[in-house]
This record gives sequence, C-alpha cells and structure tokens, in this order.
Amino acid sequence: MIHHPEDLHPHFAATYKPLTTLLKTNPDDLASNDHLLDSLLITPRKEYHHLMYDEVMGLMNTIAAEFPHLVKMESIGKTYDDRDIWMMKIDGTNLLSPSTGLDSNAEKKAILLTGAHHSREMVSTQMPLYAALDLLHGYIHGNQEKIALLARNQYFFIPMVNTDGCHEIMKHWKETKEMLLKRKNNDTRFERPSDNCPLMEKGVDINRNYGYIFGNDSGPCSESFPGPHAFSEPETRAMRNMLYKYQDTIKFVYNFHAYGPMYIWPYNGENNNELAESNPIA
Ligand SMILES: [Zn+2]
Repeated sequence: MIHHPEDLHPHFAATYKPLTTLLKTNPDDLASNDHLLDSLLITPRKEYHHLMYDEVMGLMNTIAAEFPHLVKMESIGKTYDDRDIWMMKIDGTNLLSPSTGLDSNAEKKAILLTGAHHSREMVSTQMPLYAALDLLHGYIHGNQEKIALLARNQYFFIPMVNTDGCHEIMKHWKETKEMLLKRKNNDTRFERPSDNCPLMEKGVDINRNYGYIFGNDSGPCSESFPGPHAFSEPETRAMRNMLYKYQDTIKFVYNFHAYGPMYIWPYNGENNNELAESNPIA
C-alpha cells in the first residue's frame, strides 16, 4: 500500500500536490528552471535531502496520472519481500510531427535510466526522476528540444531497483528518525546464525548479483556479498526479464550510483580493462 506523501513530510506535501501546476509555471517566473525541479525533488529532511520510498511511489503515480497520454507504469517484477519494482515509461513518439523532422515509421528506441541498485545511494533515485520531470516540464512549455527528444525516443525509468532496501531505509527513518545506510536487499537466506550480520549489512548486493564477472569470496555480512550464484535474487531476475523483453528497444542504459564523482564506462569488474580505473569528472 502506498501512503500519501503527506504522511511523510509536510514540506514535500506542499510541493507534491501541485505537480502539474509547478511544471506549468513559467521558468522565467522563478530563479531558474533548476530551482523549479529542485523544489519538486528535494525535501529538507535534516541533512538528508532525498526522497524516500513512499514519496517516490507517490511522485511516479502522480506523474502517470497527470500525463496519461505520455506516461505508463509497469512493474518489472517482484522483490524478495514481494514488492513491485516499478518502471515509469515515457513514450512521446506520438508527438511526431513535421516540425520534429522525424519519420513516424522510425524504430522506437528506448533509453533506460535506473537508480538505487544500492539503496543508500539515495540521490541516484532522484537523477532518473529529475530527467523525467525535466522532459515533461519542457513538453508543457513547448520546448522544441525536449519535444524532439520525447518524439525521438522512449524513456524508461526505474528509480528504485533495490526497492526493498529503499523501503527498509524509510521504515527505519519513520521508527527512529535515523538514516539506515543500507546498501543491499532484504534477502537473508544465506546468512548463517553465526554471521549475525548487523541490520545495515544484511542482504545481497544486487549490483554484484548479475551474471557478468560474478563472484567474490566475501561472506554474507560483506557490503558486496554477491549471493550464492548469479541471479539468485528476484531483483536481478526482474531486471534480466525486463531487458530480454525490451532487448530490441532499449539502446542505452545508464545506472546511477552515488559512490563518488566518477563516470564508469563498461566494465568496472574486469581487472584487465584499461578503463576499469574510474574517470573522475568533477
Ligand atoms: Zn552503488
């Protein structure tokens, strides 16, 4: 059940309710376009200015409800705790018109942006949401560049791949007003009683659970515990199924993380890859 974000944070409720109104606000009336989008996505939760699970679900559902001709929600599968992993799809290819100069018969390509493979990297959830709102804001204001982008491609957003981890952080916050810096999912099947992993260290690192360069010898309490075998986790299986389903459509994938100021081009898990050393960009 998705609670209304009002239950979580009064400030967010104030910015949450008039989503369409805010998106329709002329950027010239505000300090900057960025400020407008920031106001939708940033909440003053002490020093942590990030949206939590309920807020993200509420925001995505609102976007889908207010732009039904452009936005569809799709569950790509269930988590270990049986929550849906939501993907928000923006298909603006029906905006094709002579003004865009694009062929209406052209193949519909899709760009996939994901966040929160690691739940504590909370800003990685907001980057995909920010991109979605930026496109919709441009659409409402007749921004030809954004409309052309929407007309040319589909955009898929999975802001919380590790949905359970994100939910756990919210639950802990509600109960204790403390941030649980949880990185992994909620699957404790592989933890032995003698491991007795701390709350923050329970689960499997979804980002290490894919089939490419699988494996390390860390134990279940390790922050990068990959699980017993590739795709042991429902979250990675859901991602795999979704990627198979859209394998002819998705042409580009970007997985947001928030570990450090770096852009990692495939693949970071391969020691002999000369690009394995991350390239600082800031
Ligand atoms: Zn990460």
